[in-house]
Amino acid sequence: MTDAAAQPPRPLAGRAEDDPASRFFRGGGRHRFTAREAFVTAVSQPVAEFVRVTLSGPDFHDFASTGPSDHVRVFFPDPATGELVAPRPATEGEDGIVRPDAPMLARDFTPLNPRVDEATGYGAFDLDFLLHADPGPAAAFGAQAKLGDRLVVVGPRGSKNATQNAPRILLVVDPTAFPAASRWAAEVPASTRVDVIVDVAGDLAWAETYLRATRDDVTVTAGGADLADAVRTAGVDAGTFVFGAGEASRLIPLRRLLRYELELPRAQFALSGYWKRGAAAFDHHAPIDPADPD
Ligand SMILES: Cc1cc2nc3c(=O)[nH]c(=O)nc-3n(C[C@H](O)[C@H](O)[C@H](O)COP(=O)(O)OP(=O)(O)OC[C@H]3O[C@@H](n4cnc5c(N)ncnc54)[C@H](O)[C@@H]3O)c2cc1C
Repeated sequence: MTDAAAQPPRPLAGRAEDDPASRFFRGGGRHRFTAREAFVTAVSQPVAEFVRVTLSGPDFHDFASTGPSDHVRVFFPDPATGELVAPRPATEGEDGIVRPDAPMLARDFTPLNPRVDEATGYGAFDLDFLLHADPGPAAAFGAQAKLGDRLVVVGPRGSKNATQNAPRILLVVDPTAFPAASRWAAEVPASTRVDVIVDVAGDLAWAETYLRATRDDVTVTAGGADLADAVRTAGVDAGTFVFGAGEASRLIPLRRLLRYELELPRAQFALSGYWKRGAAAFDHHAPIDPADPD
């Protein structure tokens, strides 16, 4: 049986941040791109705000995810009918998927703790579902997940690994990106300082509990009204890599700060809109700032 976590990634084509000499070198590679049938093998709650669903199955014998901000595209059953419409592998064992000619319910999630299931030898990983106030098919599934439930998972297509050379990382995240933040904290060297600014209102105790589970020395501070102001206060020096993810509109001032005020090199930061208030199934490839698309 293949050791899923140990799959060597295929190298990416050269980009600045893929120069091993760079302080912000990330490395990474591409993975076999396919659709995998996933079964729920465990359900738990790391904190009350999240449901953790463990997924595994025979299709995961070669599943790999080596980057902290990797994502999988998860296909959910219709909450009303229970019907799951999803892609299938193009040809068994090869790259590619075939999409059915029917509407599908898919959302992006962070694969956490990729590993090999000791009992079966199959690859396994966790998805942490935030229980938000306006649940679509994803949050609804998470709230009611039970052993044996079936999903289809596509990706990750590739991984960009955590930088191993930066003295400090600054993570600016709302709860949808807490899983990614916990991967960042776990996947940088122990010598890398990890500061987290959380876009959470009110009591931060649950955020601290969640974010310190993988590394207990991370600092956690509130983002407040304007995430850019919080980052100005925290400071970004030449050795700091910044990862920001969460509600897309909230990231606009942060993007302006990093790009135009601080003029950081592109390799020194990564921003991603994980959802958008009022929009179901927000596409994270859409520009964060519609007034200033990339
Ligand atoms: C790369 C990537 C990784 C992600 N990883 C995770 C992850 O690990 N865990 C996780 O929980 N989410 C994660 N997300 C975010 C998740 O995909 C979205 O929150 C998604 O919209 C949830 O789907 P849904 O079916 O519950 O709601 P949808 O059907 O998409 O939306 C229904 C309504 O809920 C609103 N909504 C969506 N998300 C939220 C929210 N967080 N808070 C309040 N309202 C919301 C929408 O604006 C819409 O009005 C990730 C997104 C990306 C792009």
